Amino acid sequence: MIIKSRGLPIRILKGEALQNRLPKNHEKQADIERDLKIRWKGYSGEQSLDYFLQFLPRGKYLIFHDLRLKGERNFFQMDTLILSPFFALIIEVKNYSGTLIFDTELNQFTRINHQNKEEGFQDPIAQARRQHLQLFSWLQERHFPQIPLEYLIVISDPSTIIKVVGQNKTIDPFVIHLDQIVNKIEQFHSYYKKPLLTQLQMKRMAELLVESHTPTQKSILEEYKIEQDEVIKGVQCMKCNSFSMIREKYQWKCTQCQYTSKKAHEQSIKDYFLLIESHITNKKCREFLMLSSSKTTHTILKSMKLIASGEKKGRVYQIDYKKIDFRRQK
Ligand SMILES: [Zn+2]
Repeated sequence: MIIKSRGLPIRILKGEALQNRLPKNHEKQADIERDLKIRWKGYSGEQSLDYFLQFLPRGKYLIFHDLRLKGERNFFQMDTLILSPFFALIIEVKNYSGTLIFDTELNQFTRINHQNKEEGFQDPIAQARRQHLQLFSWLQERHFPQIPLEYLIVISDPSTIIKVVGQNKTIDPFVIHLDQIVNKIEQFHSYYKKPLLTQLQMKRMAELLVESHTPTQKSILEEYKIEQDEVIKGVQCMKCNSFSMIREKYQWKCTQCQYTSKKAHEQSIKDYFLLIESHITNKKCREFLMLSSSKTTHTILKSMKLIASGEKKGRVYQIDYKKIDFRRQK
């Protein structure tokens, strides 16, 4: 049973909004494009995992996708967590292609890509072990009974070759191809036969995990060291993509292609939330949409599903990430 589903990662949406609102010849465009490609590939690997997990016996496991929890010192993130009364399992999806070599003596992880070039990477097993330790203490701090906690690294590309070098073959149980996932989970279940959590404890743990999930608020402008005034302002035309829509008689009209729309401002306000801040005032909205009337801006802001607080000039509109669909209309 899926308790927390996987949405389109907000970081992808932020990247797309930034790509769209920077001039085409901006020096950071190539980096943004490269990063988005990697992220889309990663997301599609995670979705392939979700496909396989559908084949798990119904009602036996609780599944949580994309959890970000606050550990003792910092946040830790898990692609997928599977919970049962017998054990818990952290799954990390990696979309490496080519040949992966785990050197268990040097503790080194390298990849040989399709061009036969060797690259060093951060060892995914070490990364998974850190998550494992962090989740272990997270559960302990909350006084849940101790349950066996396992982790797996799942390679989503079926053509990727996994090689282990060195005497110690301990990685074997931890790195698998995607199509083995259901067997592997059932295998864990055959080792761990004793139920250690009651139904009530499972329910409490599930609720606490979902409540404690904290999406990252990291600013994409800071990440790319881009100033706010480099971001293109204005309302974008859905037809010709130029930022040249003006407000005329209760609707938006493109001065380039004459296209009209009543809702063209919605994507722009979403872009503001994705790129600038998670709240907006009438004044800031007016500046971003390049509107002159504060009354029109008020009507526009009120029409969106935002959480308003404060009065008159101090009124602030907050975004509710769960309610607004941020996907770009294509
Ligand atoms: Zn247009």
